[in-house]
Amino acid sequence: MIICQFANIVNSMYYLYMNRSELHKRLADEPAYREKQILESIYSGRAKNWDEITSIPSALREKLRDLPFFCFEPVNRVVSTDGTIKSLFKMSDGALIETVLIPNKEFRTVCVSSQVGCAMACGFCATGTLGLTRNLTADEIADQVLYYKQTAKVTNVVYMGMGEPLLNLENVLPSVDILNDLMGIGARKISISTCGIIPGIRKLMDYPKQINLAISIHSPDDALRSKLMPVNKGFPLAKLLETCAEYIKKTNRRLMFEYVMLSGINDSDEQAHEIARLLRPLELVLLNLIPFHQTFLQFGSASRNRIHDFQRIVELEGVDCHIRHSAGVDVDAACGQLARTHYDKETRVT
Ligand code: SAH
Repeated sequence: MIICQFANIVNSMYYLYMNRSELHKRLADEPAYREKQILESIYSGRAKNWDEITSIPSALREKLRDLPFFCFEPVNRVVSTDGTIKSLFKMSDGALIETVLIPNKEFRTVCVSSQVGCAMACGFCATGTLGLTRNLTADEIADQVLYYKQTAKVTNVVYMGMGEPLLNLENVLPSVDILNDLMGIGARKISISTCGIIPGIRKLMDYPKQINLAISIHSPDDALRSKLMPVNKGFPLAKLLETCAEYIKKTNRRLMFEYVMLSGINDSDEQAHEIARLLRPLELVLLNLIPFHQTFLQFGSASRNRIHDFQRIVELEGVDCHIRHSAGVDVDAACGQLARTHYDKETRVT
């Protein structure tokens, strides 16, 4: 089936943003179907290196041998007792990014990074302390999924790793195309998370694919939200929620909201009532409560009981509310933690 889809897209728009243009150049003298065969072998996850693309002549494999198969090199991999795998990848310019595979009974979800570091500086987020180095290309994003696809049947992809995807839509949307059209991951299985970049949310209103959008809200009031998330100063809650209402109206898609549960900061009964009252008018919404992953930053997670009480209040107020299972707590799975540890080690050595 994938091969049929390839027929339509090879030699089309893809090369405008694919890093694999070097591959394309190398194949200039070959019949066009060779490229389709190669891309199909790569993106199905079956071939793990050039040698494993057995559908092409060995002379051609030789010709490709010095091309890197991935956009990056894995430099560290940690496996949690709950099966979560966190990888650290080194890009060709030395930049480090993190990607996580979260398996459970039903799904295997890959959490991808969209930027090297992040400019948003959310106070509780380890990536926020790194600052932004650069955007990732579409291939660099898609290859994170491909890496895991080679060993696991990836079912879902979330853009909840390092970076702010809505500030890199020019690469994020093409990466969604690669996942969707070339890797066979359904649009409904792909979720993009944002700290609330209004112009980006507006762009996604006109995006034809049925992807999910999640808004990191984390607070029901502007004063606290601005303290936790500086982005709120430019895109305050009232404007953000207005845009969210428009998004729902235009797309008829359910919006997800993320709420990281920080002990003594945003986890009171009153705040549960307030966030529910803010979200209730939007109707088609789900609030996900995320236990805070302990990092080197001075924040603590709300207790299990507190999170359950908070959920009960939100639901009683009439808003769907789930508690997100905390994965990979023993492997620094929180956004940006592993890269930060690695950078710190490198800094200590030099
Ligand atoms: N920039 C995007 C996507 C990356 S962060 C966004 O803000 O949505 C993905 C989610 O993880 C966000 O909701 C973010 O607030 C949350 N997060 C960051 N650090 C965390 C931590 N230590 N524990 C739990 N959630 C965290």
